[in-house]
Amino acid sequence: MEKIEQVRSALAGRGLQALWVTDPANVRYLSGFTHPDDGRVLVTPAEVLLYTDSRYTVQAKEDAEEGVQVVIASPLSALEQAAPKVAGLKVGIEAANLTVAGLERLQSAWQAQFHPTEGLVEELRLYKTDAEISGIRAAQDLADRVFGEVRPMIKAGVRELDVAIALEQGLRQAGATSAFDVIVASGVRGALPHGAASDKVIEDGDLVTVDFGANLNGYNSDMTRTVAVGEPSAELQRIYTAVLAAEEAAVAAIRPGMQAGDLDAVARDLLAEHGLAEAFAHSLGHGVGLVVHENPRLARGSEDVLQPGMVITIEPGAYIEDLGGVRIEDLVLVTESGYEVLSHSPKERF
Ligand code: ZN
Ligand code: ZN
Repeated sequence: MEKIEQVRSALAGRGLQALWVTDPANVRYLSGFTHPDDGRVLVTPAEVLLYTDSRYTVQAKEDAEEGVQVVIASPLSALEQAAPKVAGLKVGIEAANLTVAGLERLQSAWQAQFHPTEGLVEELRLYKTDAEISGIRAAQDLADRVFGEVRPMIKAGVRELDVAIALEQGLRQAGATSAFDVIVASGVRGALPHGAASDKVIEDGDLVTVDFGANLNGYNSDMTRTVAVGEPSAELQRIYTAVLAAEEAAVAAIRPGMQAGDLDAVARDLLAEHGLAEAFAHSLGHGVGLVVHENPRLARGSEDVLQPGMVITIEPGAYIEDLGGVRIEDLVLVTESGYEVLSHSPKERF
């Protein structure tokens, strides 16, 4: 239970003795419970308790990691049962997740002092365990396989929606789910960085941006490829080639110990040299794990430091109204010596 020891030491650093965990990803991370929306975790100096209701009597026991005690109770009775365990303690609550109503329920059930915390478990989640890295790797491998199967159908005459549905179906058939709504943005719609697939028909000469991920056993992948249909215009090819150069330069620059803002600058400066500074309107990337978008933050000025065990995306793009857009995104593990790219789907090259 190394994770729990880390939580206890993070609590001690804040002068706290217990933590009431309500954020679903944190509940899953600490307990292993696969229905974390319906679970709560209490970490005390002596115990780790997973509270959930009778719908999950069997599931919770199957899921619970070693050292986690499962308590089946209604939400209200769970609080009553936990009360003696936290009496007189300083209890951390998750400020970004616990509602005002949730805090009021705690205050009326427990004789404890409540202290808002931010990012306490999230800081531990930055550094993936070997099991987590395997989980993310498996999700990405599956996504690569499904993309390979669907890639031939990305051609003139096919609706964006049909590409998205084929990807989602492929993921489902392989035992995963879609990590987020599949983005398929073709032609001028490529200028929308988050263009959810529409009923637009893909046309000859379009660049088609496809951004999707697999959620497998709770862990996510995230990858974008921009696919050429027929022969895109010289200007689109120029923009694509610039984004590809920026993406590959940023990946190649990944080193443990570097600030994420400096990595963002590698891609941003390169795009600026091609007159695409304005066209790159979002940040370079983000961490990926139990949540698709988590820390670290790879953005302009970010002081987050890259460290071995982090899984991040590198995803520069360029979006030009009335013309189209390009984004290329790889999923990357930061290692002791540099990096390992986890996404393997081939990229267009002009
Ligand atoms: Zn993505
Ligand atoms: Zn992403």
